Amino acid sequence: MDCVRIVTEFTESEISALVHPEWFEAFPWLLQGTTTRGSAGAPPFDFGLFGETSRPREARERWSTLQQRLGARGVVYSQQVHGADVCEYEEHSSGISGLELVDPCDGHVTSTPGLLLAVTAADCVPVFVIDPERRAVAVLHAGWRGAAAGVIESGVKKMASAFASRAEDLRLHMGPAICGTCYEVGPEVFAALREPVPDRPAPIDLRHVLAEHAVRLGVSRAAVTISAHCTICTESGLFSHRKGHRERQVGYIGVLD
Ligand SMILES: [Zn+2]
Repeated sequence: MDCVRIVTEFTESEISALVHPEWFEAFPWLLQGTTTRGSAGAPPFDFGLFGETSRPREARERWSTLQQRLGARGVVYSQQVHGADVCEYEEHSSGISGLELVDPCDGHVTSTPGLLLAVTAADCVPVFVIDPERRAVAVLHAGWRGAAAGVIESGVKKMASAFASRAEDLRLHMGPAICGTCYEVGPEVFAALREPVPDRPAPIDLRHVLAEHAVRLGVSRAAVTISAHCTICTESGLFSHRKGHRERQVGYIGVLD
């Protein structure tokens, strides 16, 4: 079986983000990246607004810094619940400016220029989806629970219903996340993902599992890539929940105005 291609994002230092090099070259209308913890000595570039993460006021200021640096009119973000709900913002999207906290869900789609879609993560996978034909984009938050709940399927279906995107036109990137060597899980996780179940805890490569979900839906294998960056072992300046970090990085995507 062919493997899904691994891609090493480059560091965009102005934004402090890891950016897909091929998409950056091929799609000048696209904004895409995953933030990192930022420069040494500076406060961590933390975007967590929910749960045990950092102070909300400082985090909100960071959201607005990110929005300004990227030149976006508005940013859509939600509390994430490890489910498979994906939302679109076409009808009322012109009214969004600044940080818009929408109802809890784990994915967002849009084709509206100037609107940035965001998920936060710290080991979970930020999944980026683009339809270059229709200039439509999505970002999904996928831990193992979301993967088991079918968040990839939901995202692809939402792209189809919202923009008539065909699976064969989509490109997907499994962004910086915990890698298949570092992520050891119990047999119940393999069972939930309908993978062969080991009899003791074992490592699982969640990004490969997610990539296979996309391929099964009709996305071309050549159109799927996986980030070489790991939140634990590649020293990429990323936050890791398993390492004890409370902070969160942001995976963002949007269509330029
Ligand atoms: Zn790793």
